[in-house]
Amino acid sequence: MSVSIWRRFHGDIVAHVRSLSEAGRYEIAAWHGQQPERLQRFTQHCSTVDSAKAHADALARRMFGHHCDIGFCTDWMVWTA
Ligand SMILES: [Zn+2]
Repeated sequence: MSVSIWRRFHGDIVAHVRSLSEAGRYEIAAWHGQQPERLQRFTQHCSTVDSAKAHADALARRMFGHHCDIGFCTDWMVWTA
């Protein structure tokens, strides 16, 4: 199983999900592009990638008091960098 990364941009806030080699386990992280030192990251078992993405979105919103707005926040995208 190859490692995959997804990211979603809430303005300057980045929500990040990375699938780990152990099935069903994901690295979930969020940070602010202007404050990279505030990065938070943890690993979690999730039944689906969408569930992992929801955790990352929730983390990003909680960390920065962010409220999503259609047209402002991007969709989740596969990150190939
Ligand atoms: Zn948002």
